[in-house]
Amino acid sequence: MNFKVLIIEDDVQIQEFIFYILKENNFDCIKSSTGEEAMSILSNRSMDIILLDLGLPDTDGIELIKKIREFSDLPIIIISARNEELEKVQALDLGADDYLVKPFSMNELLARMRVVIRNKINTSPFDNVEVYEKGDLKVDVKNRVVLLKEEVIYFT
Ligand code: CA
Repeated sequence: MNFKVLIIEDDVQIQEFIFYILKENNFDCIKSSTGEEAMSILSNRSMDIILLDLGLPDTDGIELIKKIREFSDLPIIIISARNEELEKVQALDLGADDYLVKPFSMNELLARMRVVIRNKINTSPFDNVEVYEKGDLKVDVKNRVVLLKEEVIYFT
């Protein structure tokens, strides 16, 4: 099972590009172009990470963070052309986990996603019996992640 990523981005070219690269890196992705569509996907399916563009046609991404945080603590990584300190601070204060300014490199996005995944594993409760550790190897069955020396290893 792969990590499931919801891409909320109305720019079709960027959306397709991210979708393609993440697929190549063994993520399962769902695309959505509006806030409304994203909310309906989130209420029907279980996801692992959200990538959120702030400039959406129907909703402001900042408002969407608020809405999502009312019912979900899924990691949210902002991908935005807006590079203003106030917006970054607002987004992070409202519960976004990270903030990338466009244009960003896909390698950087993948690295930030690995951090978010790692943090998710590290904050799992200690009574989680579905994590096996041996030396540098850590297998998290519940979150479907294998780590070697704290680096996420991807399997198909
Ligand atoms: Ca946009």
